[in-house]
Amino acid sequence: MRFRSFQGLGGIGTGVIVDGVLRGQFENETGYVGSLDALVAAGPGSLESAHAVLSQAPILDAGSLAWLPPLRTPPKIVCVGLNYSDHTTESGYKQPDYPTFFNRFASSLMGHNVPMVRPVVSDTLDFEGELAVVIGRAGRHVSKTDALAHVLGYSVFNDGSVREYQFKSPQWTIGKNFDSTGAFGPDLVTADELPEGASGLRLETRLNGQVVQSASTNELIFDVATLISTLSEAVTLEVGDVIVTGTPSGIGHARNPKLYMKPGDVCEVEIEKVGLLRNRIVDESDAADRRAA
Ligand code: ZN
Repeated sequence: MRFRSFQGLGGIGTGVIVDGVLRGQFENETGYVGSLDALVAAGPGSLESAHAVLSQAPILDAGSLAWLPPLRTPPKIVCVGLNYSDHTTESGYKQPDYPTFFNRFASSLMGHNVPMVRPVVSDTLDFEGELAVVIGRAGRHVSKTDALAHVLGYSVFNDGSVREYQFKSPQWTIGKNFDSTGAFGPDLVTADELPEGASGLRLETRLNGQVVQSASTNELIFDVATLISTLSEAVTLEVGDVIVTGTPSGIGHARNPKLYMKPGDVCEVEIEKVGLLRNRIVDESDAADRRAA
């Protein structure tokens, strides 16, 4: 199953992609199945019955919609740093033997085709194409063997990073949480549509059409099952939590000369069988003007 969240004249909506066609409902319609956040929270049964209803819903004109992140308010968004060895090397780190977890706030998220905002305070906005995992079953002390049974599905993420702020202190949080830098979506794809653990999928990031990152999800040092198991040693995983699994090599910050994103650039992250996430870069001042207009 493939789900999308969007906004249009009827307000917020939820849709499915069946045979390449988007069908869906808006919140102002009678019989609205609910937001994707609510459906995921209600459990796999609700998601399946919503899929059945939405598969019969009207075909929507994608051009009239703004995409939202598939989940707008995940209980937790846990990101992973240094999870591809070439990226660890290019970043000047020694490969840690424990995953580098850090957090992202839901306030930093935006959807497919929605501008990623370069802040006024720094011109060091960088791309990080990543596989996102959505938790569908809560758990604590989840064994590696059981871990994948806790996965609801997968999506695409661009962990837009303001490098100058990321390295202002020994931990990265602030540089990873600027508003409208966490691109997420467009589809939430259930795990049954993908190889186990979403492994062996080609991940590619393109900046203005030029390939800047290319890797296989096979190359994850800590794979999806390991991340879930390790994280749950400490933290109760909740339904709807998102784990953003880390980026491969090729980031702009590690290049000479550095390749930061600037207004007008278009960044695409594509993961085989999961989807294509595209965002244009705008300046914060222009984004504010547009919101006011
Ligand atoms: Zn990242």
